[in-house]
Amino acid sequence: MEVREKAKIVITVASLVAVTVLFVAEYRRRHRKKQTSSSLSSCYLHSELKSQFGFKRVLADNSYSEFKHLKLDDASSSLENSSNGHPYETEITVLLENPRIEFGFLRGEYSLEMSDSYVWVETELQLKELAEILAKEKVFAVDTEQHSLRSFLGFTALIQISTHEKDFLVDTIVLHDAMSILRPVFSEPNICKVFHGADNDVLWLQRDFHIYVVNMFDTAKACEVLSKPQRSLAYLLETVCGVATNKLLQREDWRQRPLSEEMVRYARTDAHYLLYIADSLTAELKQLATEDSSSPDDRFHFLLEASRRSNMTCLQLYTKETEDFPGSAAASSIIYRHLNGHGDKSNISLNAEELVRKLCAWRDLMGRIHDESTRYVLSDQAIVGLACKQPTTNEEIYDTIAHTDLATESSPSLSSSVQSPYPVICSHLDDIYEMILDKLAKLDDILPVVLKKCLGTNGTCPISVFNYSLLVNFKTKLSSHSAPKQNGHKNFKQQFTRKASRELFVKKFSCKAPVYHNCRIYANDGRLLCYCDKRKLEWYLNRGLAKLVEENPPAIMLLFEPKGRPEDEGNDFYIQTKRNICVGCGEGKHYLRYRIIPSCYRVHFPEHLKSHRSHDIVLLCVDCHEVAHAAAERYKKQIATEFGIPLFVRRVLDSKEAQGTSSLVEDESTGNSEDAGVSPLHLRSAAMALLRHGNRMPSSRREELLQTVKMYYGGRDISEEDLEKALLIGLSPHERRKLERKKGVSFKHSAEVAGMDKQEDEYNDGEAPAYSEKIMNVERSTVADDSGDGTSEGDGASELNDTQCNGNTLHQQNSKLSLLGHGPHGKQIVEYILREHGEDGVRDFCQRWRKVFVDAVHPRHLPGGWNVSHSGRRDFGEFSVYNPTKRLSTE
Ligand code: AMP
Ligand code: MN
Ligand code: ZN
Repeated sequence: MEVREKAKIVITVASLVAVTVLFVAEYRRRHRKKQTSSSLSSCYLHSELKSQFGFKRVLADNSYSEFKHLKLDDASSSLENSSNGHPYETEITVLLENPRIEFGFLRGEYSLEMSDSYVWVETELQLKELAEILAKEKVFAVDTEQHSLRSFLGFTALIQISTHEKDFLVDTIVLHDAMSILRPVFSEPNICKVFHGADNDVLWLQRDFHIYVVNMFDTAKACEVLSKPQRSLAYLLETVCGVATNKLLQREDWRQRPLSEEMVRYARTDAHYLLYIADSLTAELKQLATEDSSSPDDRFHFLLEASRRSNMTCLQLYTKETEDFPGSAAASSIIYRHLNGHGDKSNISLNAEELVRKLCAWRDLMGRIHDESTRYVLSDQAIVGLACKQPTTNEEIYDTIAHTDLATESSPSLSSSVQSPYPVICSHLDDIYEMILDKLAKLDDILPVVLKKCLGTNGTCPISVFNYSLLVNFKTKLSSHSAPKQNGHKNFKQQFTRKASRELFVKKFSCKAPVYHNCRIYANDGRLLCYCDKRKLEWYLNRGLAKLVEENPPAIMLLFEPKGRPEDEGNDFYIQTKRNICVGCGEGKHYLRYRIIPSCYRVHFPEHLKSHRSHDIVLLCVDCHEVAHAAAERYKKQIATEFGIPLFVRRVLDSKEAQGTSSLVEDESTGNSEDAGVSPLHLRSAAMALLRHGNRMPSSRREELLQTVKMYYGGRDISEEDLEKALLIGLSPHERRKLERKKGVSFKHSAEVAGMDKQEDEYNDGEAPAYSEKIMNVERSTVADDSGDGTSEGDGASELNDTQCNGNTLHQQNSKLSLLGHGPHGKQIVEYILREHGEDGVRDFCQRWRKVFVDAVHPRHLPGGWNVSHSGRRDFGEFSVYNPTKRLSTE
């Protein structure tokens, strides 16, 4: 064969192979696409990062519960039971009654030109600096940009603020959780905020940041009063400033970063000229008054009217939309517009109408679960398409949606790369299939079933701050909707909610990684000292205090002589491997840490009795955790009675006060001392309510509140001074100072309560839902990322953090106190034990708690060496991570 011939064959074969490979790849790709779109595969959100998922806290979540309005910038009002009215109603009403009109929108030199420089605010420090700058201004201009397509309720993506000197663009996505910094300047009545068409901005600021605007001048309201032919900002920019703007940019995706040059320019333009426009419109308003009126008193009539209308806007309150049943408003509208020829019911099948209602309910819930707008889940016309055509295979469903959306072209205009059907439908197509085939038979069933499918055990979709409370609030929503339901149905729902919230709890709080790494530490004589986590090994290795002797699982040998050997101290426990399972029942799929000795006591133990000992922190599944926790709470009450130290704060009468007090509320003989205590929160709100509204409230209510306060004062009559003192109980020094500043006085008796630990005790046995964080006494810091007095000695904490290594536990202790609520009780108990019985007393106390734990849980999987009479005592070697003297000097 000739060389050329050979080459030809080679090339032909090669091309054939290439074509085949491409073909197969393409076939596989298409095939895979079909598969993912038609199977109940995992949700698209697992692989998509949306910008709002970085928010740590959202004020308006996607649950069906009401939005809470709060005045958060001073201590006193947060104590009041929120009536959910406007927190600044008083301040705004004052402005409406005595308008303060701003004449100096411009001061000194002002150039209409927009320079090239502006400030992009993206760090907390920059935001604080901005707040300081604004606090010195008499007036500044504001505008906001929103994102609404990829969010159920929408969120503020940018705030533009302009002063005379500068334009600021605040990145409200990265700064979402820090925006409270701007609350004071917005609610300050002495600073005028200029907006254009603020109706929505005012609500959005409340929704996202609890920012309330007090004192506003709205240039759109000025246009209204002036009867301008148009009221748009574009019109004003053109006629007043001679500036053109392209309002189409308003619909850009304002989440994008960095913003394009064009978007930055557009955004700045919206705020930059507002001060100038306000100035110019005020002049016109004054002019109008002079022309129109005969009396000089009327000189400011129109200006005042514009100001009044502006401040009326500030009184608006953000609310979440409510419906009788999820999606019902949209369903009725779709049925009316598209299905039954405007009210004529004859030509629409009941079947189609029912399907529209189901699809709308489903769309509403899916939007909430995934934090997407309903139009991004499924468009109105796609719903109509599905209802009319009733496709019966996944492919047909998919195509019906794609075609109707393509035909109507009103689908979201954001990005051309994403085509209808959108990802929510693609990963949850089966639901639609089941609704059409009537497998999800009743409208009422859709919500619980879908919710369970998405967020229940092995749920398809991720849990987030947006959908977390959906489950908990779901019960209320359903029961209010379907009050006259038969009992069985309701029970099912209750059970379901309970089960679902348990699962949610597991997802949220169970340890994310194995707790025990079972790494080993040997002494230099080769004897095993303990098991521990990786970070502890690293701590010794990084400081040259040990050498690595084994790789997998890792083990180190100390290069110094440790203080003692565990066996010699009777501490066998620490040289046992530990399993990552619930010590109660052996459950291995999830577990959380449980502190056998409640933290309210343990934090007050002497350092060497508590430091980093893992013995009394065990792993439990949620169910065993609940059992253990309930037993511990009961035992706390028993301790309170036994020691006569109530769980909740109660002021003990001194002897002088006690004289002349005939009856004490507390009856020691019944051993009911715990019940005589009153939680600081209840005490403070009762005192506040009595001080503020005492003489106006119904006498029965006043009596009730008085009882609460009297309980604290041991039953005697209460003076106004007592009430004022009660306001300070349980407040941190910082909160106390704030309250005093607000009142403009220093409370005479604040020193008396200054030693009191801060409490945020809302613990309530009766009312809290099962698995609430409070009931379980779990909060992120103690479970999800154990940073406390953790399990890291011996064996344990997967996250041995820096604070543990450098021993800065003070702050941790404080934060724990404030979270756990029984701080003062715990402190007094431990002080009493140490005073009366010394360290032996503490050891006995620990043993009692271990016994309580064992009696309640009957643990079958405790690690070897664990025992009720564990000493808990240890000495610190010179080089130990936990040596108290060392700890201050390391790092
Ligand atoms: P503006 O008051 O013009 O700054 O608009 C503020 C925000 O309102 C924008 O970021 C948009 O999210 C939203 N918005 C206002 N008008 C429209 C519109 N016609 N279409 C879509 N979004 C709009
Ligand atoms: Mn704007
Ligand atoms: Zn999903």
